[in-house]
Amino acid sequence: MTDVLKQLFIGGAWVDAADGATMPVDDPATGEIIAHVADAGPKDARLAEDAAVEAQEEWARTAPRARSEILRRAHEIILARTDELALLMTTEMGKPLAEARGEVAYAAEFFRWFSEEAVRIEGGYGTLPDGRNRMLLTRRPVGPSLLITPWNFPLAMGTRKIGPAIAAGCTMILKPAPQTPLSSLALAGILKEAGLPDGVLNVVTTSRAGEVCEPLLRGGRIRKLSFTGSTAVGRLLLAQCADTVVRTSMELGGNAPFVVFDDADLDKAVDGAMVAKMRNMGEACTAANRFFVHRSVAEEFGRRLAARMGALVVGPGTRDGVDVGPLIDDAGRAKVEELVADAVERGARVLVGGTAPEGPGRFYPPTVLADVVPGSRLMDTEIFGPVAAILTFDDEDEVVRRANDTPWGLVGYLFTEGLDRALRVSERLEVGMVGLNTGLVSNPAAPFGGIKQSGLGREGGRVGIEEFLEYQYLAMPVG
Ligand code: NAP
Repeated sequence: MTDVLKQLFIGGAWVDAADGATMPVDDPATGEIIAHVADAGPKDARLAEDAAVEAQEEWARTAPRARSEILRRAHEIILARTDELALLMTTEMGKPLAEARGEVAYAAEFFRWFSEEAVRIEGGYGTLPDGRNRMLLTRRPVGPSLLITPWNFPLAMGTRKIGPAIAAGCTMILKPAPQTPLSSLALAGILKEAGLPDGVLNVVTTSRAGEVCEPLLRGGRIRKLSFTGSTAVGRLLLAQCADTVVRTSMELGGNAPFVVFDDADLDKAVDGAMVAKMRNMGEACTAANRFFVHRSVAEEFGRRLAARMGALVVGPGTRDGVDVGPLIDDAGRAKVEELVADAVERGARVLVGGTAPEGPGRFYPPTVLADVVPGSRLMDTEIFGPVAAILTFDDEDEVVRRANDTPWGLVGYLFTEGLDRALRVSERLEVGMVGLNTGLVSNPAAPFGGIKQSGLGREGGRVGIEEFLEYQYLAMPVG
């Protein structure tokens, strides 16, 4: 790929890494190297930090309408380049083109949403209870922010953080995942074109995440970390943020239960399962990880799901008619293979799939496992692949207890036609989001995020911008 952006984006300029290092980016469908991008080290990170810190004061003073218009223009440019961006994303990440186009629209929508929020940052004025003192409440940007994103939604995870940071008036450094730097660099190019001032967004691509990020978090000048990734890395970063009390937003891993009650509409449940499991080849934090199906409908549900999963076409995401692309890398595929082997060894039945094809490419077939035994490793590990693991249950209390028996709490899916049961069980599930008779919860207008070890804070919705704003209160005695 010759026409893609491959350098670091610092202070509004495209530059090589200070030591000239580069890193390869490959196509997971073939294993072929498609580009070499700049591989930043700590010196580059410091330059990016200097640029973000220097730009902060003026950016905070920029009119909200001006910030809003930049986001709006970027939203339009992204949509106008849907095909180009989708192809780039598919080539570096693997998802089928149709899904990549869907992600482009989803990603762009965060910019439109936050362009609307930028001009609705409200303060307040009030009389305090003593009747004499007044309170003037204003909002201000938290300050230079470090944004760290994963590879599974290369464009949307960026816009979900950059959108509210721009709207709030924060400058930032974005560190994308090394598997998918090209989409983030393309995004930086679009924001520059949309008129974003130099230094507001800086992008450092690197294969040395720890070396680049730790000094930033410990240095005292970065005031905010917004991280999306695994719980293990999130935990480590929280510890690094503690010393200088950096404010954090953490979107971490999940272990979503997908519960099908005996009064569910099975057509809806199977449709929902296909989305909750197969979106992004199962490489999503929201992916249904544990299917709890009432014993009386488990056989029928498994049969129908296996028929649908078995009919999907696996292949390179750029090829017409392909439904399921490759997994991100060899380690990701090996993990799925190990989890399936462990479940089968413990007694699970393979209804469809279950064996990885020969290379090239990191393909894994859509797989349905029935009679999965509690205690199997895939019950307490994110599968991050196209594998549906079905367990049975007998009553409501039991399934709520088992669904909640995990340190994670991102999302849960419920399928029932009973309104009472839907509300009762939703309230008892320890999750930040519930899909009721649907397999999709992600929407830029809704607060996305989890509880327990799935994270802190929310992205999107009315509260998304709050993550990048502070309060200041002015006390005034009157009269
Ligand atoms: P990951 O290994 O935690 O990596 C996420 C990002 O953190 C990458 O950019 C990674 O770069 C970086 N990173 C790793 N170690 C670091 C360190 N010591 N200092 C600074 N940065 C560091 O996760 P992943 O495998 O890319 O993504 C999958 C995970 O993300 C899953 O657990 C998934 O559930 C979660 N996720 C959550 C959400 C959500 O909204 N809750 C959304 C999407 C994904 P390197 O790869 O170079 O280490």
